[in-house]
Amino acid sequence: MNWISNVVPPKIRSLLTTRREPPDDFWRKCGGCGQMTDKKALEQNAFVFPCCNHHDRVDARARLKQLFDKGEFTVVPAPEVPLDPLKFRDGKRYTDRLKEAKARTELADAVLIGEGTLEGRAIVAAAQDFRFMGGSLGMAAGEAVATAMDRAVEKQTPFILFAASGGARMQEGVLSLMQMARTTIGVRRLKAARLPYIVVLTDPTTGGVTASYAMLGDIHIAEPGALICFAGPRVIEQTIREQLPEGFQRAEYLLAHGMVDMVIHRHKLRDTLARIVAVLAGSTMATGKRNRGRTSGRLKANGHLNGSALDGKAMEALAREGNAMIEPVSDDERFETRKPEGRATTRPETDKGKTVPPREPS
Ligand SMILES: [Zn+2]
Repeated sequence: MNWISNVVPPKIRSLLTTRREPPDDFWRKCGGCGQMTDKKALEQNAFVFPCCNHHDRVDARARLKQLFDKGEFTVVPAPEVPLDPLKFRDGKRYTDRLKEAKARTELADAVLIGEGTLEGRAIVAAAQDFRFMGGSLGMAAGEAVATAMDRAVEKQTPFILFAASGGARMQEGVLSLMQMARTTIGVRRLKAARLPYIVVLTDPTTGGVTASYAMLGDIHIAEPGALICFAGPRVIEQTIREQLPEGFQRAEYLLAHGMVDMVIHRHKLRDTLARIVAVLAGSTMATGKRNRGRTSGRLKANGHLNGSALDGKAMEALAREGNAMIEPVSDDERFETRKPEGRATTRPETDKGKTVPPREPS
């Protein structure tokens, strides 16, 4: 290519070419607009690209660091599970893939559990790492999620989960699918113990994870632009042979259609989580330990504490009693959602042809 590299011996070449290239992992390309940002700056900005606020994927350890007070937490070990019970092999042996992922991520499997405090309140949290075989839900990950939930029950703390997954781990076949049921039972245990379960849906949360514990929380928060779905848009498009609307299955679209409770910028995520935990855990304490006033008494009688069964007025009254903060969100802080323009953009074409039969005169 270049006469310097072809003709001149290496030592002289190094004298001639003084310009040093930055190391390969110095820059990261923005997934939103394509601009380059250096990795240090990106990390300091909580992995949000400054160019267009595109939210980059965050690994499990960094996630938990962002969440807990002073970034300090204790890792809760997950129980060991049998490795590769099906002796699965596709292009590569499953055991080799596991070894590789473990070496690259320094994790035991796709889920990392941590416990610590959030604004002084004890919590248990788990984060899925997309780098570990696409954050897929295998036996180890399922076991870890269930362990984390049990830990929260044992310690009587709220539980926060950061979901990021490509779905079930196909190398474990039906054993992987069983984890959907297993983790759902974990969620039931949390609910029976009346502990708040908050899910943060990050990019991407798909497949079996969406079909189980990731959609069973009391509150669902999504990160901007995150893909959240069961089957992905490409698969749906190929199956129904229809053009899907813009932003289909992205966080904002799901918010506009009532599938998630809020879409929160990562810079405000920790504050939001702290506030929700304060409100929900405050109400749990009010009914669980002491009976403070009429509102909590009514809640106790109803047997409902968290989730949709709790009515807004009761929650607000409880929050006031428990000295928890409730802040009205100012209009400029609200997340704007695009209103669907007419039926054609939100409904598939096939709906258009249907006509409503005229009412018969009585
Ligand atoms: Zn950008």
